[in-house]
Amino acid sequence: MVEFEFWWLLVIPFFFALGWLAARVDIKQIISESTDLPSAYFKGLHYLISNQYDKAIEAFDDAIKLNNDSLELHFALGALLRKTGQIDRAINLHIDLLEQRELSLEQQESIKAELAQDYFKAGLYDRSEELLLALNRERYYQFSLNTLLEIYVKEREWKKAVETATELEKVSGVSFRVSISHFYCEIAVNEILNKKYSLAKKLLAQALEESKNCTRANILLGDIHSEEKLYEEAIVFWKKIEFQQPEYLGLVASKIISTFQILNKINEGLSILARFFDIYKLKSLLNVLYEAVLANEGPNQAENIARKELIKRPSLSALDQLFQAQAIGKTNKIDNIELIQQTIKNTIGDRRFYMCNQCGFKARQFHWQCPGCNAWESLPSEPVDIILENK
Ligand SMILES: [Zn+2]
Repeated sequence: MVEFEFWWLLVIPFFFALGWLAARVDIKQIISESTDLPSAYFKGLHYLISNQYDKAIEAFDDAIKLNNDSLELHFALGALLRKTGQIDRAINLHIDLLEQRELSLEQQESIKAELAQDYFKAGLYDRSEELLLALNRERYYQFSLNTLLEIYVKEREWKKAVETATELEKVSGVSFRVSISHFYCEIAVNEILNKKYSLAKKLLAQALEESKNCTRANILLGDIHSEEKLYEEAIVFWKKIEFQQPEYLGLVASKIISTFQILNKINEGLSILARFFDIYKLKSLLNVLYEAVLANEGPNQAENIARKELIKRPSLSALDQLFQAQAIGKTNKIDNIELIQQTIKNTIGDRRFYMCNQCGFKARQFHWQCPGCNAWESLPSEPVDIILENK
C-alpha cells in the first residue's frame, strides 16, 4: 500500500514533463536562436554603445541572417541605417519586409510606421504623410500627429500645422500654445505680404489668443499699423512687449525711435528708450539709444551715455562707442582715437551671434524659429559674444 502511493508520486511529474516537451517541439530552434542571436546581436549593441555605427550595422545584418523572423531586429537595423543617413537602404529593407512575407495587419502597420520615418528623413514628405494618415488611429495616432506636425512645419503648411498641433495637444496633454501662436504669425506674415492687413490683424489677434505672451504678434501688429501710417497705434503695440517678454524690446527699439521721428517727437522716443534701458539693461537697447542720441543730440551726449555704461558694465562695444563719439566730437587726438576705435570694431565685429538654447545653432540674425532644429523662440532675444562667453 505504501509502495503503490510512492510510484504514483513519480508518474505524475513524468507526464507533466512529457507534455511540456510536446508543447515545445521546436525546442532545438529555440536553443540555436538563443545561442546564435545573442552573439551577433550583443556584438551589434556593443558597437552601438561605442558609437561604431558601421560595425553595428554589420553585426545587426549578421543577426538578421541568423534570425530572419524577428521584425524587431529589422527595425533596429532600419533605425540605425536612418541614423547614419543610409536612408535608401532603410527604405529598401522595410519595403522588402512588406513585400516578401505573410504579415498580420498589426505587423504591416508597424513596418509602415518605420517606412514613414524613412520617407520623412529622406525629405519625401508626401509619401510619409500618406502612410501616416493611413495608420491605425489608436495605436499610432500620437506618433503620426508628431511626425505630421514636423512635415507641415517643414513644408510651411501652417493651417494644417495649427490643426495637427491642436489635436496633438488634446491627445498628448503637452502644450503647443507657443508653436500654434507662431503658426498664426506665419499665416499673418503671408497676408501682410499680400497687403491683406485686416485679415492679418485677425490672425494676429488669434495668435495672442493662443498665447498671450506672443511678442511676435504685437511686433507684427505694430508693423501693420505703421504701414497704414497709424503711427501712434503702432507704438502702442510695440510698447506692449514690455508687459509680455521685455527681453525682446531690442527687436522694436529702432522701430520705436524712427516712428517717433516721423511724429516729430524724438525726445519722447529717446526718453522711453532710456527708461527701457535703465530697467532692462539690454545691449541692443543701448546700441539704438546711443545711435539715436548721437544723431539727434550730438557726440557729447552720446559720449556721456557710452561713458556711463563703460563705468557700470565695462565692455568692448561700449568702449567702441565712447571712442566713436570722441572721434566724431573731435574732443581728443583724432587720428589715434580713430585707429583705436577701428581696431576695436574689427575685433568685436563678427563675434556676436544668436545661439539656440536647444541645439546650439549660431545665427547672425534673430529668427523666431531656429534654422537648425526648428524650435520656436529658442534663440535668445539678445546676441551673445561667443568668444567671451566661452572663456
Ligand atoms: Zn536650435
